[in-house]
Amino acid sequence: MAEQKKGYFHVIREKYCKGCGICIAFCPKQLLVLKNGKVFPERPEICIGCRMCEYRCPDYAIEVKPIEEKEHQDQDVGIDLTLPPEAHHG
Ligand code: SF4
Ligand code: SF4
Repeated sequence: MAEQKKGYFHVIREKYCKGCGICIAFCPKQLLVLKNGKVFPERPEICIGCRMCEYRCPDYAIEVKPIEEKEHQDQDVGIDLTLPPEAHHG
């Protein structure tokens, strides 16, 4: 059995990030830095997934997701197309 590694990854929308540094200031693990005026997760492996950066960013430029979701995302776009619309009618 492979050892299960818990962790988080960061989705940075560089287009929206204005490099204000709010997320950096609020990150309790201080793992975010500015690189070329944009936020960059320098040590993503120590992220605790508190999502303070995500909540505090005024521009929705950073998102934090569990690694498991990344693996899912590689397979599909996150919408369950196997469910017919009728399934939502109670
Ligand atoms: S989720 Fe929390 S620990 Fe991780 S980068 Fe954002 S503020 Fe820092
Ligand atoms: S708070 Fe948002 S806009 Fe500001 S540096 Fe962080 S990600 Fe960029």
